[in-house]
Amino acid sequence: MIPQSKIDEILQVATIEEVVGDYVRLKRRGANLTGLCPFHNEKTPSFSVSPAKGIYKCFGCGKAGNSVNFVMEHDGLGYIEALKSLADKYRIEWPQQENVNIDHEKAIRSEKESLQILNNWAADYFENQLWESDEGKTIGLSYFEERGFRHDIIKKFKLGYSLESWSHLNDTALAALYNEDLLLKAGLVKKSEQGKVYDAYRGRVMFTIHGHTGKVIAFAGRQLKKDDKSAKYVNSPETLLYHKSNELYGLFYAKNAIRQNDFVYLVEGYTDVISMHQAGIENVVASSGTSLTENQIKLIKRHTENVTVLYDGDAAGIKASMRGIDMLLEQGLNVKVVPFPDGEDPDSFSRKVGADAYSSYLKKETRDFILFKVKLLLTDVANDPIKKAQVTRDIVESIGKIPDGIKRMAFIKECAVLLDMNEGLLIAELNKYRNDFLTQKEKEWVEPTIDTPKVSLQEELKELLKVEPLFEQERYMVKLLLLHGHKEKEGYANIAQYILAEMQNLELFFEQEAMRLLVDEIRFMLQENLPLHTEAFINHSNPLISASTASILAQQDEASEKWTIKYGVPIVSPEDNYLLDISSTMLYLEKKQLEKMTSQAGEELKLAIEKGNEEEINFSLELIKLLKEKQKELSHKAGIVILH
Ligand code: ZN
Repeated sequence: MIPQSKIDEILQVATIEEVVGDYVRLKRRGANLTGLCPFHNEKTPSFSVSPAKGIYKCFGCGKAGNSVNFVMEHDGLGYIEALKSLADKYRIEWPQQENVNIDHEKAIRSEKESLQILNNWAADYFENQLWESDEGKTIGLSYFEERGFRHDIIKKFKLGYSLESWSHLNDTALAALYNEDLLLKAGLVKKSEQGKVYDAYRGRVMFTIHGHTGKVIAFAGRQLKKDDKSAKYVNSPETLLYHKSNELYGLFYAKNAIRQNDFVYLVEGYTDVISMHQAGIENVVASSGTSLTENQIKLIKRHTENVTVLYDGDAAGIKASMRGIDMLLEQGLNVKVVPFPDGEDPDSFSRKVGADAYSSYLKKETRDFILFKVKLLLTDVANDPIKKAQVTRDIVESIGKIPDGIKRMAFIKECAVLLDMNEGLLIAELNKYRNDFLTQKEKEWVEPTIDTPKVSLQEELKELLKVEPLFEQERYMVKLLLLHGHKEKEGYANIAQYILAEMQNLELFFEQEAMRLLVDEIRFMLQENLPLHTEAFINHSNPLISASTASILAQQDEASEKWTIKYGVPIVSPEDNYLLDISSTMLYLEKKQLEKMTSQAGEELKLAIEKGNEEEINFSLELIKLLKEKQKELSHKAGIVILH
């Protein structure tokens, strides 16, 4: 690790205007400098440099960061390499042992690049075998055709075939000058105990796995022979490009449809995803057989808060996956399920009934997960009081994981009716569970592990900040944290602690991943009593943090004026009166959350009425009632703020 003091030293000497000035002709405009962006083509300057803050930001393509980020992006270097190149240029002494890190970083970068090139080659190879070779056509292609996959869909997902040969892929790859070591690392070939190298996917149909940015990162090969005793699927090993628990199959092809529909179908397998696309439903991803991980859920949350789980089979099948579904609730997602007839999965069922009937089945049979769970568990209870107590606990646990208090209350009210139980008793049980749950969570809280960017820094940043316009006020709150977090506040360690405590009281959450990244870091720094000055974030040793900070600080703040006017709060510059700014932003976030929940509940009510589902109708009505009460309280509070 490079010591923070060294990073600070480099950034102090390698000022942003000098570093950028070597590549871009900058003109002064007020406190800032502007020029033509070196990262995208433009005729009028939208690239801005702030010497005071030590950052750059392009308002055309969104790239942002400090001096180190600029060199990384401009010269295509790793983080430590970029620091070293600045140190060399500005004659700053470089710690001896860090040369090892540079070599390591270079090696990783070049291995990553080589793996990427090899994967692209292999995807073309498998596709080629499927469409061009006799074996591929008669065995592979006809298998997909029997499953009912259309040719356009087979091509879209880059499905392929691996010949039933011990060495065809290996020979072809070696002839194309790929080295054996890399082939082994990518998992395309394996080595026997006798040291013989052989093709890993012999005689299998191939699924190409794309990362969420569309790059080919891995493969899965499915066996075709019934008597085959080997594994049904052979998957790529973990590589520098592929971390199975961080990926969702199909996400790259689903992104747009998820945004349009504001929900995603979660299925289990590759073929489920593909057959959904074929039925015209594109907002679908798969956890690919493994149980859902926290990182996968975070990935979903980048795109939507609404998940409909389509797991194999009937009620019993869903029962088996309930734990995994609870994890979704815990992350604040709204969860629904669709049960299928016994023995059917999303793939088999859509083939059986056809595209139209399938999509209307999904619409009609979508159920709220918690209400579905209550009814499902109640069928086993009959008049057994012990079983009923068990079921109650089980349901309270699920409800207790929902981060939003208003929603928890609405569920409690509806479940009290369904369970035929006193509401007060359920609330008491819920509170007890919440206490234990929160204490447990606090214990589990650890320093956020932040991976250094997987793709290029700016690619990752762009992905992180993509939903930007939707979260103006959230971003503004983070900006207030970054600018004023270190200042004093009576009764708290500082402003940052005050803001985070208030937000927790109000059950407000940062939805946007880039914001959570920064807020987690702020929490960590608070816990460790580290100083929270703005420079600590701009100079941060994680390039994702420094670049997000730059992007947030460079953003213009007209937005804040808009919402303060709406509230009747006098416009003040954040420097003059940041406390007022904080409370009006807090109010706005609360208001926005309530509005969003109310409109969602309204949509749900409409759907429930269409389906004629009584529990869901009652639940939605209850939720809307609670939300209205909350809104009244809020406008009262807003009135008080105005009087100040
Ligand atoms: Zn640009």
